[in-house]
Amino acid sequence: MSTGGRPRVLVMHPILDPGPAILAEAAEVMAYPADRPLDEASIRRAAEGCVGIVSQLMDPIRDTVLSTPGLRCVSNVAVGFDNIDIAAATARKVMVTNTPGVLDDATADFAFTLLMAAARRVAEADAFTRAGHFHGWAIDMMLGQDVFGATLGIIGIGRIGRGVAHRAKGFNMRVLYYDPQPLPREAEEQLGATRVDLNRLIAESDFISVHVPLTQETLHLITTPQFNAMKRNAILVNTSRGAVVDEAALVEALNAKKLAGAGLDVYEREPAVHPHLIPMPNVVLAPHIASATVRTRSEMSAMAARNMATAVRGGRPPNLVNPEVKR
Ligand code: NAD
Repeated sequence: MSTGGRPRVLVMHPILDPGPAILAEAAEVMAYPADRPLDEASIRRAAEGCVGIVSQLMDPIRDTVLSTPGLRCVSNVAVGFDNIDIAAATARKVMVTNTPGVLDDATADFAFTLLMAAARRVAEADAFTRAGHFHGWAIDMMLGQDVFGATLGIIGIGRIGRGVAHRAKGFNMRVLYYDPQPLPREAEEQLGATRVDLNRLIAESDFISVHVPLTQETLHLITTPQFNAMKRNAILVNTSRGAVVDEAALVEALNAKKLAGAGLDVYEREPAVHPHLIPMPNVVLAPHIASATVRTRSEMSAMAARNMATAVRGGRPPNLVNPEVKR
């Protein structure tokens, strides 16, 4: 189905300039009604007659949606694509695209922001000061952890993990990483990063920053045995996906003082945050904003729109996650 012969694309949520103009050149754009729930049946109904869907990470794109007749491409405005059933898409010959690379610096910056904020108790100090509790300098007030010269463990040394390692050099940190894919020797030397197994990374790191995709293998990668093995001064930073960390186990471990604190951008059941995390002063909480800079979100929008425009025109989008669909 099309309007005036033009192919239709469903845009699940508004994207930023120049994305809409790029899409409008290639297709008739249908906006998903903002008040409609984001369940698969509703998305499927809205996608009828569309050749493409521009989705975001809160949209469940599974077989019910992917089996829409005529659907050719799902363009996710994110580098992660755990909201999409890739195997089902491939089986249905639906191309899936993502937005790698353009968000590396913003996300790595934010991982470091959370690390620093948790280490030096920035959120707690801000609340304290605003509440009028600052009555004078005290030698034991708000003591935190040293970052300069500390050991940083990076789990997943892909694009963003490498960006975090790069930043850690400026803080003279000892950098350990765990990843089934080793870095080339030159990259290890350039970043000053040493590959270790997960157990050693957990046991030796003062800061642990997680940068893996959410997959069956990484679901609850960090859970009770890992928390039990952490240094008592350790701070866990998660800007990847919430379910990589077992949130209930994290709460238990924080209560038992198995680690010192955490900086979290992502949660297991977003937008819900585990209620026991809310009152914890040693945990810095952010609402999934690691890539949220003006430039980055605009580049993600443009990239997602270009991926879709290319697919609509019959081409092979540059950021194809399942290349076997279109060789
Ligand atoms: P990437 O593919 O470049 O890197 C991921 C790395 O994880 C790879 O090196 C891979 O080998 C490694 N890995 C995979 N399985 C692993 C395992 N079991 N143990 C250890 N390492 C493993 O991805 P990227 O662009 O660096 O992004 C990483 C993830 O960060 C994304 O998948 C996304 O979910 C998340 N992300 C979140 C935000 C945010 O807003 N919070 C922003 C950007 C990306």
